[in-house]
Amino acid sequence: MIITVENLTFCYDSIPALRNVSVEILGGELVTILGPNGSGKTTFLKCLCRLLKPKAGYIHFDRRPIWKMKPNRFAQQVGYVPQVHSPSFPYRVIDVVAGGRTPYLSVLTAPSEKDYELAYQALEAVGCRELAERSYTQLSGGELRMVLIARALAQQPKILLLDEPTSHLDFKNKIMVMRTIKNLVEKRQVSAVVSEHDPNIAIAFSDKIILMKEGSIIAYGKPDEVVNEETMKILYEMDVEVIPLTNPPSKFIMPKY
Ligand code: ADP
Repeated sequence: MIITVENLTFCYDSIPALRNVSVEILGGELVTILGPNGSGKTTFLKCLCRLLKPKAGYIHFDRRPIWKMKPNRFAQQVGYVPQVHSPSFPYRVIDVVAGGRTPYLSVLTAPSEKDYELAYQALEAVGCRELAERSYTQLSGGELRMVLIARALAQQPKILLLDEPTSHLDFKNKIMVMRTIKNLVEKRQVSAVVSEHDPNIAIAFSDKIILMKEGSIIAYGKPDEVVNEETMKILYEMDVEVIPLTNPPSKFIMPKY
């Protein structure tokens, strides 16, 4: 599915958080948004999943304006994994994942056997089938993140939006989460938009990177094209050394301490 964003502007109480953002994201692409805290990454993702309504500009999915789509139809297309999620009730993991089927159910209908089958398949796809009967409140940070991705997958979306999916994870789990997302994008041809803080993770896994600062896109393109000493200096106001690598990923960003 093609995501087209044109001249998107969003304000919180008249203070702009996104300014004239334009970008086109193709089906089957993993696009990462890199930018300092407060640059507008979460706001952008929330506009894409209709949690926030922009002040100006438009967002189209496959050339259709998203605000003209029926809520259920829209929810079937877009899976959103928010940044912060604190489980409060000890549901079984499989019930949480089956909750991803909600946009396909009519009011007051429980998920069917078929919905549960899809939920098990989604857990399998993220390598967490064995967590199905566990209590949702007893998962580690990495497991919780995988379960939330599985819930979004059970929705069978064409677009996956993930807000900092690697935050608070250890070194190995960060890689595992990104590898899972990348595999899903490749196998299912979904479009994924992910916000991220680590340029090296962005370089390693993204088809394209959006560099965002103060609500504006300062560069958009393939990792090789957009990540360099100059753009990192503009983005983070710090000096970095770009170390070329012989094997993919093509380069490694090292801060100058
Ligand atoms: P990022 O995800 O890159 O950290 P955000 O999209 O969360 O950035 O925030 C962009 C800007 O909007 C920041 O200046 C932030 O303080 C402001 N902002 C975010 N959420 C709200 C809100 N609910 N009310 C007012 N301002 C907000």
